[in-house]
Amino acid sequence: MPTSDTRAALYPGSFDLLTFGHLDLIRRGCRLFDRLIVGVANNSRKSPWFSAEERVELIRKCTEEFGNVEAVVLEGLTVEFAATAGARFIVRGLRAVSDFEFEFQLAIMNHQLNSSVETIFLAPAPEYTFLSSSMVKEVWRLGGDVSSFIPAPILATLEAKRSCGELPLD
Ligand code: ADP
Repeated sequence: MPTSDTRAALYPGSFDLLTFGHLDLIRRGCRLFDRLIVGVANNSRKSPWFSAEERVELIRKCTEEFGNVEAVVLEGLTVEFAATAGARFIVRGLRAVSDFEFEFQLAIMNHQLNSSVETIFLAPAPEYTFLSSSMVKEVWRLGGDVSSFIPAPILATLEAKRSCGELPLD
């Protein structure tokens, strides 16, 4: 049961699909905070391969060993969602210089919207700095082996979707 002393953080993102890079950040985040809430954005401007509910279920399955990670669909403004969920921190990942400008803008905007919610940036282990969901999708779509980039439940769901003709999408 969360108390006022509980340090909670929200890790928002698309997570379409969850990679070992995301999982590395979740592992780091759940050591820093009492509760880590993974917020799955239902971004209608993108064409996701997995529904938000599927992503939530898969994240739960891939993070159950940690014990203090929750996964939920994120609705509305991220800062408001964090505040309502009792999270005073937002966790975001920084891979390389390419992430910096967007992440910096987002952090400043979120600060303007609600200055009581602080953004914390985490870097992944070096072997994951190149890893992105979109690159994994492209490699998988072209028949490459992606098993060293994504957790087994994600790969199994991809294969199941392919065999019922749902994937690949363009
Ligand atoms: P979004 O669409 O919000 O960028 P993503 O699912 O692509 O959602 O990423 C969520 C967060 O995780 C972002 O802060 C992103 O920079 C970070 N992230 C994604 N992949 C990695 C990785 N390999 N290493 C570290 N951070 C990552």
